[in-house]
Amino acid sequence: MIIYGRSATHLKTEPLRNTVCPNCKTTGSLNTGIYSRHAHVFWIPLFPMGKVGVCECQHCHKGFKIKELAEDGKREFKNLKGTVRTPIWKYTGLALILLLVCGLVYSNKQKETKVATLIANPAMFDKYTFKTEDDHYSTFKVLEVFKDSIYVNFNTYETDKLTRIYEIDIKDNYDPDAIYSLTASEIDNLYASGAIMDIERD
Ligand SMILES: [Zn+2]
Repeated sequence: MIIYGRSATHLKTEPLRNTVCPNCKTTGSLNTGIYSRHAHVFWIPLFPMGKVGVCECQHCHKGFKIKELAEDGKREFKNLKGTVRTPIWKYTGLALILLLVCGLVYSNKQKETKVATLIANPAMFDKYTFKTEDDHYSTFKVLEVFKDSIYVNFNTYETDKLTRIYEIDIKDNYDPDAIYSLTASEIDNLYASGAIMDIERD
């Protein structure tokens, strides 16, 4: 369950010096409270959603919405609103999301670099995670490295979710009979087609 909503916080209360009260017609008697609205998720402020205001006449004590003021009153409010800064903490959620996205992009890049490096220099016991032709995932381990090929031991199981690869990556699933030779160009083709998801080296 995601709890989300909208909140407003008070920023400032200032008089509208040149505005006439729509009720008692006194000039400069209106005080306006400026509020900043924001969206929140689990009470973490996500992003600001603009500023709003309400007025109260200090003379006749009647309250007004900004839209009830005459045009010059609305303009004065708008100018005043522009001088009040939105507090930076209202961007907390947005900043967290941005950090998370940057982190993911960075770790993806790291992984790409690692795979490219390891595939160019295969070593014994490297473990490859790859995508099968029917979009499942499985693994193989490098047993021996030759000049233009490698001997690998295939996992005889596969899974439909990459995140569950650990469930099938157990010793008994590597059948001693499932040993094959892969040429360097076969490996290159697998890599170029994006089928190599990860390579692990201890
Ligand atoms: Zn008034």
